Amino acid sequence: MKAQQQALSYLQTLNLQGIIRSLDEMINDAESRKVSYLGFLNGLLAAEIEYRIKRRVERNLAGAHFPVVKGLEDFEFGRVKGIGKSEATNLLDCRWIDTRENLLFFGPPGIGKTHLAIALGRTAVEKGYKVCFERVTGLIKLLKTAEVQKTAEYRIRRLMKSDLVIIDEIGYTPIEKREANLFFNMISELYEKASVVITSNKSFDAWAEMMGDTVMTTALLDRLLHHAKVFTLDGESYRIKKSRKEE
Ligand code: ADP
Ligand code: MG
Repeated sequence: MKAQQQALSYLQTLNLQGIIRSLDEMINDAESRKVSYLGFLNGLLAAEIEYRIKRRVERNLAGAHFPVVKGLEDFEFGRVKGIGKSEATNLLDCRWIDTRENLLFFGPPGIGKTHLAIALGRTAVEKGYKVCFERVTGLIKLLKTAEVQKTAEYRIRRLMKSDLVIIDEIGYTPIEKREANLFFNMISELYEKASVVITSNKSFDAWAEMMGDTVMTTALLDRLLHHAKVFTLDGESYRIKKSRKEE
């Protein structure tokens, strides 16, 4: 018993929380199954690694700032044109993140653009990628205040180091020229370094008007579309359909 207390104290000093959590069970198991010294050591190390991976995913899920929990398993593909179930399921392998490809979801409100973006983002986090989710209005506020506000600076720094940046709801509110500039600079910096997912209710041709600068919008789209999959979704708004059903 004393030896175990000593072991626990060493483990605390080294902060090996994964081993601490499974130590009792592993000792009992090793004694009853007569596990070799090396087998026991490997078991302990595996427990620590598994615990650290789990913790990192939990931290990255919290750090992604997803507004709600959504998954592909509760997405009804029959309701929407422009993306098929197998096409969406294939994206769950996250190969497009490895190759720094972007995904752009266009379509009217309530069609599931944000839902799909969150579902793909969550899977990416679970697979070990670093993800940041921001609505474009929030993102622009962060970009504008990053120089003077520590929390904004911290968020932007995390965003720039992410594997995947999801920018939601482009097009609902017009963007001032200075804001569009900050946004353009950010996309340029992310270009070929990270994947970007964008959702927008406005088609490309309406972007220039929304950003008030044709030349810059062209340059922005050029970067976003260089390695990208574009999904133009259509169908009836899920929100309207649902409220009608509930009437
Ligand atoms: P958008 O971003 O296109 O405006 P959302 O993704 O926010 O739409 O969808 C609005 C609501 O309807 C969300 O609660 C979402 O989960 C749900 N929803 C939209 N499309 C579908 C779908 N095809 N299957 C299941 N739920 C959907
Ligand atoms: Mg949305």
